[in-house]
Amino acid sequence: MQIFYDKEKSMELMERIQNKFGDENRYKRGTDIHVSDLSYCLMKTYCRLNGIERKQTKANIGTMVFGIIAETILAWTYPKDVLQYKSHMPMTSEEEDVFGHIDIFEQFKYPLEVKASRKQVFMASQVPVQWIEQLMSYMAMEGCNIGWIVIFNIFSTQIIAFKLVLSQQDIMDWLVILSVRRIQIMKAIKEKNPNEVPIRADEYGLCDYRFKCPRGEECYRKSREIAEQKSKDKEEKKKPTRYDPFAEKREQNFNPNLYGTSGNKGDPNKRMDENLRKLKEAGKQLTEG
Ligand code: SF4
Repeated sequence: MQIFYDKEKSMELMERIQNKFGDENRYKRGTDIHVSDLSYCLMKTYCRLNGIERKQTKANIGTMVFGIIAETILAWTYPKDVLQYKSHMPMTSEEEDVFGHIDIFEQFKYPLEVKASRKQVFMASQVPVQWIEQLMSYMAMEGCNIGWIVIFNIFSTQIIAFKLVLSQQDIMDWLVILSVRRIQIMKAIKEKNPNEVPIRADEYGLCDYRFKCPRGEECYRKSREIAEQKSKDKEEKKKPTRYDPFAEKREQNFNPNLYGTSGNKGDPNKRMDENLRKLKEAGKQLTEG
């Protein structure tokens, strides 16, 4: 008898999973914009839409596999019709839509976003902002004030749920932020200009696009600065800055140039007014309904 580590077979199996659950979904959706496209560094979406090659690490594939297992196991305990519930931006035209699938839409009232983590996440401040933003998007799109992020920890084998509560104003603000992000990315694609897209350099280390991303070098430099600042703050025992999901909206201050640039005809300012009016109306209807 012989038994030995088969590197080739291991790689082949990894690739099968990557193709099925990673690339197939990512490229199948074409130019449609998914919630996840707007919850991570927007340059990833730019790279995806431009067909830029990505290189997934074994660790990333492994976490993805555990994420799928976690979601599947929890899904078995819920009725089928609340699983992978299709959601989209309220009252937007097809060309401005954002869509996504809620992992579990409990009683069609409470979205649950299920994740697997290699890191220890015991406190709300440790929950990755990208996951919070994904859940916020589903809550805002469905007009829900309450939702949960459910984390399966791979190493400690613990399951922890974090409850997220949004006010009506938060819902409206988040719909506006999503809409602005969508316009930013489509504008960059249309103008073939990646430099206008805001980047999230803290994602560099785990980014599958970092070797080919047009802003990879800049992102690397910024990621080093962030890491240095973090270690300084640690030495000086400074408290980490609290995550403020709406800071982006205050900074944008509804810059009219961000609106009316997604290929829509007409005056950008009018388009902005119309978008804001629609989003406010949608938020109101959703939260009242
Ligand atoms: S390398 Fe940086 S800027 Fe480029 S996609 Fe990755 S995280 Fe975003």
